[in-house]
Amino acid sequence: LRRPPNGEDGGVAEGDTIHRVAERLRPALAGALLVRFEAPRLVGVRPWPGTRIDDVEAHGKHLLVHFDGGLSLRTHLRMSGSWHLYRAGERWRKPAYLARVVIGVDTGWEAVCFSAPEVATYRRAAGPRVLTGLGPDLCRADSLEPTTLDAVLGRLAVADPDTAVADALLDQQIASGIGNVFKSEVCFAVGLDPFTALAELDEAARREVWTTAARQLRANLGPGPRRTHPRGLAVYGRLGRPCYTCGTPVRMARQGEFARSTYWCPRCQRRPA
Ligand SMILES: [Zn+2]
Repeated sequence: LRRPPNGEDGGVAEGDTIHRVAERLRPALAGALLVRFEAPRLVGVRPWPGTRIDDVEAHGKHLLVHFDGGLSLRTHLRMSGSWHLYRAGERWRKPAYLARVVIGVDTGWEAVCFSAPEVATYRRAAGPRVLTGLGPDLCRADSLEPTTLDAVLGRLAVADPDTAVADALLDQQIASGIGNVFKSEVCFAVGLDPFTALAELDEAARREVWTTAARQLRANLGPGPRRTHPRGLAVYGRLGRPCYTCGTPVRMARQGEFARSTYWCPRCQRRPA
């Protein structure tokens, strides 16, 4: 279930990855009865064996497992986590001490989540507090609808205007699903310097940036390596190599709370006039 490394931040769980994980887990788990549930660091209430699993879905960068009766499990994979699917009794490909969730069901499948830093359950009726703050999920089919983009623009309107557009793209409270790879690729696609402050972007420019993000995420939900350019990725992971458009060496800088890498072409990507 883990993607092959894609550049230096290989294994980064972006929204498109989580959607693929949900697509893999859903046929194995949805409709089945829970026979085993282990989660040593779980925050929240534990689902009982015998409970039916209603559905598995992705929301932004969270993977949600919904149980009958209103309880849901939420995992966030961040940089390190992954979900594997096994037949019960099959040998795991990672050591057991890294397992953060084990979900065994009566159809013989075992879904194991390794190394996820966030594992919690919540009552759906009460609403997941962490999710109420999430912006629209740009991996969803409605992500290119005007109402979705309007919601994103509304959240941008109340964001700190000094925020660099690269950081705003990663802010899951503005829109969810965009990770480090698409952050750089989106800025290249629209020819925008990733360090441009939100204050410098008018509404049309904001709409173009987040529409491009939705298009790129939607276009990468299928199997195969990520592609945002006829030659693969335009700038991400290409430090020092020539820009496909102008030949200028691609640059990289680390920015933001987690010093995430940002790649860009200093010639093709400019600040708005
Ligand atoms: Zn260039």
